[in-house]
Amino acid sequence: DSVFSSVSTLPDDPILSLTGKFLADPRDCKVNLGVGMYLDENGVTPVLDVVREAEEAIALSHRPHTYIPQTGLPLYDRLVQELLFGKDSEVVTSKRACTVQSLGGTGALKLGCDLMYWACGLRVGAASVPTWGNHNDILERSGYTVAAYRYYDAGTHGLNFEAMCEDLKKLPAKTLVILHACCHNPTGYDLDANQWSEIIDICKHCQLVPFLDLAYQGFKAGLEEDSLAVRLFADSGLDFLVASSFSKSFNLYSERIGALTVVTHSENEALRVASHLKCCARANYSNPAAFGGRIVERVLSDPDKFAHWEKELAGMRNRILAMRQALADEMRAIGAKRDFSFVTEQAGMFSFTGLTPEQVDRLSSEFGIYAVRNGRICVCGLNRKNVAYVARSFAAVL
Ligand code: PLP
Repeated sequence: DSVFSSVSTLPDDPILSLTGKFLADPRDCKVNLGVGMYLDENGVTPVLDVVREAEEAIALSHRPHTYIPQTGLPLYDRLVQELLFGKDSEVVTSKRACTVQSLGGTGALKLGCDLMYWACGLRVGAASVPTWGNHNDILERSGYTVAAYRYYDAGTHGLNFEAMCEDLKKLPAKTLVILHACCHNPTGYDLDANQWSEIIDICKHCQLVPFLDLAYQGFKAGLEEDSLAVRLFADSGLDFLVASSFSKSFNLYSERIGALTVVTHSENEALRVASHLKCCARANYSNPAAFGGRIVERVLSDPDKFAHWEKELAGMRNRILAMRQALADEMRAIGAKRDFSFVTEQAGMFSFTGLTPEQVDRLSSEFGIYAVRNGRICVCGLNRKNVAYVARSFAAVL
């Protein structure tokens, strides 16, 4: 008997498997609204100018491929902190935070979960309902009992802040609470500054450990604006973690480049935490890869390149905003049964459309339009050529 004879087949990831189905569809009219990647007006993920320049410079430097430190490139780590908290922030100057280069935002979440499990003895983790599915998987596979807090109200197409607070207050002390810092995936609804302050109070009162997931910095309103939650937590005096990523903001999906930042009470604490993070990295992948880090480091450390990146990022953000508006306008113009103006109130790459799994199935079988069955669409899949077709198809299945 094989050791694998009792191994079952697990279902494919519902989001990642959509691309295969989309590619296999022979129809010319097909549209992929499933992917979580930025696409431009021509349906491709562009290489940013700042990335192309850095790639060429790094290739020409012919640097030896030695191991980099387990915590990542030191300059990269410092630049990440400056981007999160601001250059002159007390968190940065006091050195009470430590940052570790990670394998994307996903790797940062895993490192953070491992750290809090092994170094601090946390055993319960919580994520929003709904959330990016990997939150629950990472918590579970890191050994946590997974809890949930309500977040979204399907009836009103919006945040259910009261339910969120109510559920957070019921969590046991020392629960690791994953919070979407901006551009909530999948709903697109975020908290405002006052609501964040209430969440901070709850975290203090109930001794919860906040873990902010910032995968979309720059996709809502701008780099600084989108770090609002991170900065409010930094001012709060709470210990907390941030998983950040450059997959989206640099279109560097395949380079797996992100960071885990742990904010503590003192430089001494941060150094001790860093020693545990080295261990977590060591036991998982030993040392991070250098290339993505070098690209980001080159751009963030040069004011002109930084400004150019901000401009390119704004270009992506504004195209998404224009597509949100275009979809809402098209739906109104054809007299669709449902008002789609809520799409313009959501932030980030995604929109929670309220389409049912059956309606999503009809969209793919009858119209060649692929979306996640929970009704999430990636707005980047829309462009001037297909938005009217998508709107007509939505209206047809509603
Ligand atoms: N967190 C959220 C909410 C996401 O949507 C994603 C990507 O889709 C990530 C984290 C991780 O991104 P990556 O690991 O590709 O950097």
